[in-house]
Amino acid sequence: MTDIDQLIERRDHALAQFATIGDMRPGTLQVTYSKCGKPNCRCACDEAARHGPHYMVSRSLEGRMKHTRLRPEEVGAAQEQLDEYERFQAISTEFIRASEEVTEARRLALRNGDPVKKKR
Ligand SMILES: [Zn+2]
Repeated sequence: MTDIDQLIERRDHALAQFATIGDMRPGTLQVTYSKCGKPNCRCACDEAARHGPHYMVSRSLEGRMKHTRLRPEEVGAAQEQLDEYERFQAISTEFIRASEEVTEARRLALRNGDPVKKKR
């Protein structure tokens, strides 16, 4: 197996990983506490008595922040989807890196006059 074959195998391995991606969503989970504004509420004078936790997923969309409020029972699934998106990004980074190395190895092989498989 040539170096290029090994690189192609690495690239194809990364490509196959994409098929294992489940439900995913970009963003970060945020947990906040709030004051309701009622002057007689205990939250008005006690920071520890603020309301919450409130959960939301925040992410940048076309240059603006997009926030999606979650119910507490939705947090577990959302966290799994956020983790899955991070996994997708890691696979994507590896795929791009391996693809770059394949193309670079082919370029150098052509320059040196070595026979190069042009398939794929
Ligand atoms: Zn309050």
